Amino acid sequence: MKVVYTDNNATTMVAPEVVEAMLPYFTEYYGNPSSMHSFGGQVARKIDNARQQVADILGADPSEIVFTSCGTESDNAAIWGILRANPHKRHIVTSRVEHPAVYNLGKYLAQSGYHVTELGVDSNGMLNLSELADAVREDTAIVSIMYANNETGVIFPIEEIGAIVKQKGSILHTDAVQAVGKIPLNLSKSTIDLLTLSGHKLHAPKGVGALFVRKGITFSPFVIGGHQEKNRRGGTENVPSIIGLGKACELAKKFMNEETTRVKQMRDKLENEILKKAPDPRVNGHKTQRLPNTTNMSFEYVEGEAILLLLNEKGICASSGSACTSGSLEPSHVLRAMGVPFTAVHGSVRLSLSRYNTMEDVDCIIEHLPPIIRRLREISPYGRETKVQEPTARISARA
Ligand code: PLP
Repeated sequence: MKVVYTDNNATTMVAPEVVEAMLPYFTEYYGNPSSMHSFGGQVARKIDNARQQVADILGADPSEIVFTSCGTESDNAAIWGILRANPHKRHIVTSRVEHPAVYNLGKYLAQSGYHVTELGVDSNGMLNLSELADAVREDTAIVSIMYANNETGVIFPIEEIGAIVKQKGSILHTDAVQAVGKIPLNLSKSTIDLLTLSGHKLHAPKGVGALFVRKGITFSPFVIGGHQEKNRRGGTENVPSIIGLGKACELAKKFMNEETTRVKQMRDKLENEILKKAPDPRVNGHKTQRLPNTTNMSFEYVEGEAILLLLNEKGICASSGSACTSGSLEPSHVLRAMGVPFTAVHGSVRLSLSRYNTMEDVDCIIEHLPPIIRRLREISPYGRETKVQEPTARISARA
């Protein structure tokens, strides 16, 4: 059975060009980049090249890029790095819809004696900016607000957020794991001080990430060890994966314009057809301020797990904001923060595309998903009276 992979916000296929670029660094160029000999030195130069490729997709200077082991480490390094460098400041601001890499760190900090303000979102998943202005105080060490949400794809107005943060004299970190490679970024003209990215969300391997730290920001290392990464992150570099991340950034930058248009066309067709054909659908998240590849839809009175299992039988990979599939006992904290009704949170499905998807994939989901929802509604004690919603009705009500 052909696999239709639409779970690209969870992880992506490693691009064949990336695999090819990585392979010699396992077998041929295996020297340690910190070594004095030229066998290691040549590897150090390749890391510098990858650093330039990562800097290029961000519009940053290569000296501002620190390689890490993943997005989670970059998020932790950013927040701890600023807290440790500013021990007299004990307050942080974040949001209720962050990825657990920031959200759970915020909870941990709150239990450890820091003051943490979590900003709420409206029903479209957008932040209230006046709430942000009120939240930032003199002792706010760092504001950590994501660039784009992993569950809904909602994009936050990060430069407006940054302007407020700067006006209040604090530091802005953004978790851009879902944004890098999907939408253009330019940190040369930006209010962002620190930015997180992760390789496996943009067709590089798992287990590699990067943190942008703007020149002039005082930052204390999170992983303490050797002098690697100019004393900003100890540990021998994961050379093949860093080379792969560099290549993936180069490819993403090169194909960004045409691929974003094509991916958005596929996402829009998918969403519109499902809205027409499935009973009682809703789209979770702002209609336009969204990543081009993501749709998060809810179907009332059905279970997300059941939808995913039946999609899986057809070879379709997706994910859900309901409890078990996300590996947690709680339903999605993001959808709950948006005020999505309980009955709809449990029946939510996230479909996230990449440049390797095709219109045939989209047609396959359009063929299979609506009958699956109808079938589940038939056996649901609450959902027998199904009605088909006009596409614009639900979306504009939420826009
Ligand atoms: N931040 C966001 C927004 C994510 O979507 C993810 C992964 O799902 C992470 C952070 C964590 O990245 P990693 O899996 O590389 O640790």
